[in-house]
Amino acid sequence: MRMNEYKMDIGLEIHIELSTDTKIFCKCSTQFGCEPNVNTCPVCTGMPGALPVLNKQAVRYAAAVGDALNCKINTISKFDRKNYYYPDNPQNYQITQFYTPICENGYLEIDTIDGKKNIGIREIHMEEDAGKLLHNDLKNVSFIDYNRAGVPLIEIVTMPDFSNGDEVTCFLEKLRLIIQYLQVSDCKLNEGSMRVDVNLSVRKKECEELGTRTEMKNLNSFRAIKRAIDNEASRQIEVLKNGGIIDMETRRWDDLKEESFVMRSKEEAKDYRYFPEPDLPMVYVDDAMLKDIELSKPQFRHEKNDYYINELKIPEYDAKLITLDYDMTVLFEETVKICDKPKNISNWLIGEANRILKEKEWDACDIKMSPKNFAMFVNMVSEGIINSNVAKVVFEKMFLEDINPEKYVEENGLKQNSDGEMIKKIVQDVINDNEQSVRDYKAGKDKAIGYLVGQVMKKAAGKANPKLVNELLLEELRKDM
Ligand SMILES: [Zn+2]
Repeated sequence: MRMNEYKMDIGLEIHIELSTDTKIFCKCSTQFGCEPNVNTCPVCTGMPGALPVLNKQAVRYAAAVGDALNCKINTISKFDRKNYYYPDNPQNYQITQFYTPICENGYLEIDTIDGKKNIGIREIHMEEDAGKLLHNDLKNVSFIDYNRAGVPLIEIVTMPDFSNGDEVTCFLEKLRLIIQYLQVSDCKLNEGSMRVDVNLSVRKKECEELGTRTEMKNLNSFRAIKRAIDNEASRQIEVLKNGGIIDMETRRWDDLKEESFVMRSKEEAKDYRYFPEPDLPMVYVDDAMLKDIELSKPQFRHEKNDYYINELKIPEYDAKLITLDYDMTVLFEETVKICDKPKNISNWLIGEANRILKEKEWDACDIKMSPKNFAMFVNMVSEGIINSNVAKVVFEKMFLEDINPEKYVEENGLKQNSDGEMIKKIVQDVINDNEQSVRDYKAGKDKAIGYLVGQVMKKAAGKANPKLVNELLLEELRKDM
């Protein structure tokens, strides 16, 4: 990208669904993935006369995020109505906080190539989510699912402090971890519990004033966000270089085509005719709630990192990988509680577990394996009940289906064979059948040993104790050397 004469200014609007049990203004469940419209009532379907009642848990969660992002938490905030018509919004207005949000003026420090940088948080406000439209192009109809209508959201609005896509990614990763560690949301971009809109403008380097911005939506992964930013900056620079002007508009990113398309011209606050919500009283965040937030503050990533390295004595590399996902830290710590072998446990997590997660495109929260079975498994491996090849198979099975490893090994006859006499016999057979490899080994080609070990393991159906195989094989080979 020809950025040399230009620079970018990027601000983010991040919607996060709070993981309260019930919706923000009614007692309907917030559970994801239910049959359409089962979690609804007169309040969240906008029936005339239905009255909202604020969910205290949502307030506490929003304030906890504000606290973690160094915000000023307003002891009194208010709700407002944002008026617009769209079928996913049965009331024809959204209850949100426009004039007085719950949190303001925070920041989050990120690492950039030029060192540390603070990204300003303009505000965090609470609001309700809309329903979901499901379009069926074949039948040319659309369906509406109101299960999501009324799920509590916070919207985090940053200052336009980012200069490139890497800073944005770094910020979002850090923010997601903070929120996951606070356990107020699972922050899944692919399920929509974290949604990021990017406001981006470009300007000549010497220019003081910010350029005209566009807003980009439909960004479903951190990678898509990075691609969309680079693409939009190039597009704007191209327009400006050709003497054009940037229209203030909302664009929809298509990650497959790697292109964005105009959705609508960007609306302004006046288009929504905001006014104070008459059905809700003011929101108070009292000292008791603030104290509770302070007391229940979790160990954040860097603290966990230190704890793992200094107390549990696992390598820095392992600690960094495990703390990248809150659910991984829970699995790790719970397993360590049952089986006091932190290094063995972290080995499996950073090795096999990460491999399977990548392969399945899973998050750590999708792992089926319970700490109890995992602990049992780690003990079985360190006691030599199964060898490392079998262990990988058992681990994967346990990871995906939470099988009991002891039972599984027993039922499938996978116990490691440490019967010296039996292995010795196989070793002798293999030596007799592979004269060329034996000659190679004796001629100093050490690699040949690997092949011979493989042959023995094969004959022993993969269950022989590899250490014993190695010892016995070397013993036999060296006999007449
Ligand atoms: Zn409801």
